[in-house]
Amino acid sequence: MATWIKNGEVVDPVKGVVEKLDLIIERKRIAKMLPPDTFRDKGPKLMVIDASNKYIIPGLIDMHVHLREPGHEYKETIATGAMAAVAGGFTSLACMPNTRPPNDCRAVSEFILEQAERAGLAKIYPVGAITVGQKGERLTEFGDLRRAGVVAVSDDGFSVSNSELMRRALEYASYHGLAVISHCEDTYLSNNGLMHEGEISTRIGLAGIPSSSEEIMVYRDISLAKLTRCPVHIAHVSTAGSVELIRRAKEQQVPVTAETAPHYFTLDHRAVIGYNTFTKVNPPLRTSSDVAALKEGLADGVIDVIATDHAPHSPLEKDLEFDKAAFGMIGLQTALPLTLRLVREGILGLPAAIKKLCYNPAAILGIEGASLVEGGNADLAIIDLKAQYVLKEEDLLSKSKNSPFIGETLIGKNTMTMIGGKVVWERDE
Ligand SMILES: [Zn+2]
Repeated sequence: MATWIKNGEVVDPVKGVVEKLDLIIERKRIAKMLPPDTFRDKGPKLMVIDASNKYIIPGLIDMHVHLREPGHEYKETIATGAMAAVAGGFTSLACMPNTRPPNDCRAVSEFILEQAERAGLAKIYPVGAITVGQKGERLTEFGDLRRAGVVAVSDDGFSVSNSELMRRALEYASYHGLAVISHCEDTYLSNNGLMHEGEISTRIGLAGIPSSSEEIMVYRDISLAKLTRCPVHIAHVSTAGSVELIRRAKEQQVPVTAETAPHYFTLDHRAVIGYNTFTKVNPPLRTSSDVAALKEGLADGVIDVIATDHAPHSPLEKDLEFDKAAFGMIGLQTALPLTLRLVREGILGLPAAIKKLCYNPAAILGIEGASLVEGGNADLAIIDLKAQYVLKEEDLLSKSKNSPFIGETLIGKNTMTMIGGKVVWERDE
């Protein structure tokens, strides 16, 4: 059966344009993209989707997600995470290896891919650990992980503090065609810190995490990328200093790319004043001038990617005193509306914003998707830029509900997600 998506505005992140086009989908692929009112074949086997007043975007790709399976299925499973992803407009995601056991070998990678297949929703690309057990001591078998289906390596959650080991990781990963995603944190400096170190942490009496704890490692990784000529991707950039370091490295053609998460350009450390543990994240929410620098970095291309760092936690880890609560917030269903705020503020055009949520992460990971073309996979989302709503806990399909945006008014919503021509999620009207 064929599908006709008519009257929608198609966003092309590669050409940077938005154009009114009808899409004809056949056998999992986009068979044709036609100007409106030119498609005539209305056979009985044609499913028609009316996308009037809506935008059709390539399925979003989140390169930084924690799915918690295996090991912490009470927080999230591959199936529930994939469900939240498709509700948020994501058709692909890369899941971090800090599960229990960690994804540091072929067996765990294969298990994740089997569970993803069973869930049958978003495409899931496992990220393997850089070091065995994420202990920072011995490199994992990159070639073996690659053959099992891993697309990148990372010790996310931890830094690889041994610089010689990190240098070899960059070299081996490049040889095996794997991206390296670096969690930049000097843990001696961030030790026991709970929020950004600054005037707010002093006022409310919480131990601080200085900006330097991130920036020292960002500089270390840039220096190693320069030395080895092997690419490194900096995860969850949160400070103005990191943006500046990456900007200068890019000017010198150092092979570095970077991501930030929507909470870092939406909230600042004042959000922590009420001790809401949902605002406790690592790296922490920074100052308003860091937020401004992140927006500038997004606008001028220093920050390539918007990724969620979706980190589900149950009440067992979050209904606690602030110092005892775990770090992290969920983000798969809020990434799109929070990114669309940047479009309304004039920081990014719509195609440029979408590019950071699909094309750029796909290019870094070397995976398919990322633009809508004739003959390409029909992985897409149909979004409503004007839908205004108050985010409710019951709207969140993740098993965990740790979002500080519950109760906030958001604008912009995914209305339908399609993977390989099949509708996998649809908003109830
Ligand atoms: Zn991290």
